[in-house]
Amino acid sequence: MSQVNGVEYGEKDFSWLKFDRERCVRCGVCVDMCPMDVIHFGSQGYPYMRYRDDCWYCDVCTFMCPRQAIVMEELPYLIR
Ligand code: SF4
Ligand code: SF4
Repeated sequence: MSQVNGVEYGEKDFSWLKFDRERCVRCGVCVDMCPMDVIHFGSQGYPYMRYRDDCWYCDVCTFMCPRQAIVMEELPYLIR
């Protein structure tokens, strides 16, 4: 995993959900609420996109995070 300025870039560099470790309290809401089971806890207990290709950009994770720790960016092909 890579981390820049407190933002977790996931185990795949091209993951478009950025998890801010300065804000994340590892509560698991994003893991539980994702309807596609995309998000899992990584080895250090922080969430990341394990099944990136199953994401349908619904924004549930970013909306439900109580810490506003998730940022969705760099969508490669979807017009939102
Ligand atoms: S919902 Fe937010 S604070 Fe909770 S584990 Fe996910 S990113 Fe971290
Ligand atoms: S945008 Fe939706 S499908 Fe994608 S990871 Fe977040 S909750 Fe899951």
